[in-house]
Amino acid sequence: MTTILVTGGAGYIGSHTVIELVNAGYEPIIYDNFYNAKKTVLKRINTILGREVKCIEGDIRDAQKLDLVFSQNKIDGVINFAGLKAVGESVKMPLEYYDNNVNGARVLLSAMLKHNCKNFIFSSSATVYGEPDSVPLTENSPLKRANCPYGQTKVDIEYMCQELQVAHNDFSMVLLRYFNPVGAHKSGLIGEDPKGVPNNLMPYLTQVAVGRLKELSIFGNDYPTKDGTCIRDYIHVVDLALGHVAALKHCLNKPGCHIYNLGTGTGYSVLDMVKAFSKAIGYELPHKFAPRRAGDVVECYADPSKAKNELGWVATRTLDDMTFDSYNWQKNNPNGYED
Ligand code: NAD
Ligand code: UDP
Repeated sequence: MTTILVTGGAGYIGSHTVIELVNAGYEPIIYDNFYNAKKTVLKRINTILGREVKCIEGDIRDAQKLDLVFSQNKIDGVINFAGLKAVGESVKMPLEYYDNNVNGARVLLSAMLKHNCKNFIFSSSATVYGEPDSVPLTENSPLKRANCPYGQTKVDIEYMCQELQVAHNDFSMVLLRYFNPVGAHKSGLIGEDPKGVPNNLMPYLTQVAVGRLKELSIFGNDYPTKDGTCIRDYIHVVDLALGHVAALKHCLNKPGCHIYNLGTGTGYSVLDMVKAFSKAIGYELPHKFAPRRAGDVVECYADPSKAKNELGWVATRTLDDMTFDSYNWQKNNPNGYED
């Protein structure tokens, strides 16, 4: 049995990945400090799987606790989802972001080295490409200095991982650059549950649909795109979870630094998303145009061919799957997880 420590495993992407890890025959252990997750998610995971997944409450910055976890469990690899992820918040509290994300990853990697665990998968982001010079983005597209502390923590951790791999070349280091994760598990039992008013488009759409918010403000309709709104590569969270399974299968105990874009390769505009979401709910979702949001990139979508060629992974879920599953989750849980 291959055991994988899933830090941040109670969060949005982590919880979906835990399900797919079990489905693929891996043994996940969730390690989460529940800063941005509710305990209810554990019950929901267990209901979906029909068995219990081990969970340890802890912080990735807690070296002593990690020491205990690695001593008491035979851990073959780590997937690190643990981190803070709100762009606007990161501008207001940069030190917390560097501490939690960069220092957290450093403490976690130190524990791995100490316990001779040499398989690491990191949740990176398309944000490392900044405002792209051209699209689609390949893994060779240049990294840019990020326009917010959150994005910069991703760039910094990527460099830290690569440098550690040079120093310890028996390490298998996997950097997965996610595009825009949306959607939810088919069961409607787990999904995205942001704190406060959502910053991201899809949870905003779902919360308007269930009446928690009045209408969507579309940030800018004068961009140089087909309809004036920004373009993103939205990817179903279950496809993303399966990308981690594919990366594990391919990269476990394979020394090197492995970098993959996880996206669909298709860019949709904000108006495309409103249209698709309106189809899922059966009426036009209330929306209005508003000024541009500071720091938004105009167009961002992946060339996912490296993951296809090397990992045999492709995102198969459609935009309709993404909107339907997101709505299904929110409809079943209008107030998210309630502890
Ligand atoms: P999330 O907030 O739902 O999940 C993160 C989890 O980590 C939460 O359960 C939180 O409680 C936990 N956590 C935070 N700090 C921790 C710490 N110090 N120790 C232990 N646990 C801690 O976020 P998500 O959307 O599932 O994202 C997971 C990862 O993927 C993050 O690193 C995020 O930056 C990255 N990512 C997310 C997106 C996105 O749009 N959701 C896009 C690209 C990259
Ligand atoms: N967006 C919007 N209204 C919102 C939230 C997002 O118009 O309430 C737009 C945003 O300007 C961007 C796209 O939707 O063009 C995706 O935004 P999100 O924050 O989900 O992803 P990111 O910009 O971080 O890739």
